[in-house]
Amino acid sequence: MGYFFERKERLSVNKALGNETNELNKANLISDAILSNVHAYVLLIDKNFKVLKTNYYQLTNTIKDLSDKKVGDLLQCSNALSSIGGCGTHGLCSKCPVRNNIQKALDSHINFQNLSATLHVVTSDHTIVECDALISGSILMLDDVENMVLTVHDVTALKKANRELIAAKIKAENSDRSKSAFLANMSHEIRTPLNAITGFADVLTYTENSEEKKEYADIIKSNSNMLLQLVNDILDISKIEAGTLEFNYADIDINILINDLYRLFSMKLNDSHIEGTNGDVKLITILPNDKYIINTDRNRLSQVFSNFLTNAIKFTKEGEIKIGYEIRNDDIYFFVSDTGSGIPEEKVNKIFDRFYRIDKSKEGNGLGLSICKTIVNKFGGKIGAKSVVGQGSTFWFTIPRKF
Ligand code: ADP
Repeated sequence: MGYFFERKERLSVNKALGNETNELNKANLISDAILSNVHAYVLLIDKNFKVLKTNYYQLTNTIKDLSDKKVGDLLQCSNALSSIGGCGTHGLCSKCPVRNNIQKALDSHINFQNLSATLHVVTSDHTIVECDALISGSILMLDDVENMVLTVHDVTALKKANRELIAAKIKAENSDRSKSAFLANMSHEIRTPLNAITGFADVLTYTENSEEKKEYADIIKSNSNMLLQLVNDILDISKIEAGTLEFNYADIDINILINDLYRLFSMKLNDSHIEGTNGDVKLITILPNDKYIINTDRNRLSQVFSNFLTNAIKFTKEGEIKIGYEIRNDDIYFFVSDTGSGIPEEKVNKIFDRFYRIDKSKEGNGLGLSICKTIVNKFGGKIGAKSVVGQGSTFWFTIPRKF
């Protein structure tokens, strides 16, 4: 009887123990499953920062290192790894916000949450990268011993995406503002020649005097030209904005191009000479003896030169305008120089901005040089101007030589 009773007792104790072990195993399985699925490193540490348990190895797919590790050693902190004693022994450890927050929480028994810290982490290829982390710490008393559960959430990608989003938003807002400013400027620029055209066309219909008729027709013609130039410039600018400004590359002889421009602009110069705006201005070409072939877009290259030459004619009353180029070491240097009004030093850089004009009484819309800048940049070159007020200006640009 005694034996059976004893045996029964033993069996029920074993069963109870078995149940407890089962419960413990289940709890362990559940906690392991949770730890391997969360998107954060969870570290159980003691009050000396030693890691007692972690999901770090599961999440990083690395082999568990059985040696004692402190928080910084486990997280591959560059300071900890570069110091022989590891985490807590580097000169900068006393300033480490993670350490300081953990220590404060342990001392005060108050948890901390979402500490935002930038960790410098050594990667598997031994480079140091910045890692943005959100860190929380909760005190956990185990057998009357104070421990802490740390969660380290890597938010580097999130922060990067956030920064990119903010930058994109600012860019979109700026572009919206500059588009509105562009439209406001545009409607003003379009209205001025359009008003002149409609106004003088009206007057023309009831003017009998043939001299007056010619005068009004000339005004209409010059305003129509201005409007045409403006429309062409707007089209170019919208293509620049849309990234569809087309370039057709071919081999061209620069000497031929410049001589063609010389002939065209000599005629224009004579025209303006007859109108009495330019006095005695000579157009001169300065070309190397040998011809030089480059692979470029002829029309776009002519467009830059034409803009320089149109301006030079507009702002030069007497003297000479030179057009030419020089072969330099790495690039070809093109220039148009004049003996015109010149530009004050502090304004030389601004003239390449859209709509910037020094003298608003002169014909123009302030778009030409900004378009030239885009074209030259597309060629991979540089553009600039040097000028002395009262003595003249030199507008130049370069195109890299291809070897
Ligand atoms: P636009 O000539 O249509 O006004 P640009 O963009 O070509 O537009 O030129 C911008 C401004 O730069 C001109 O309005 C003028 O004030 C100044 N500028 C350009 N070229 C010269 C030059 N050769 N001499 C003096 N000023 C110039």
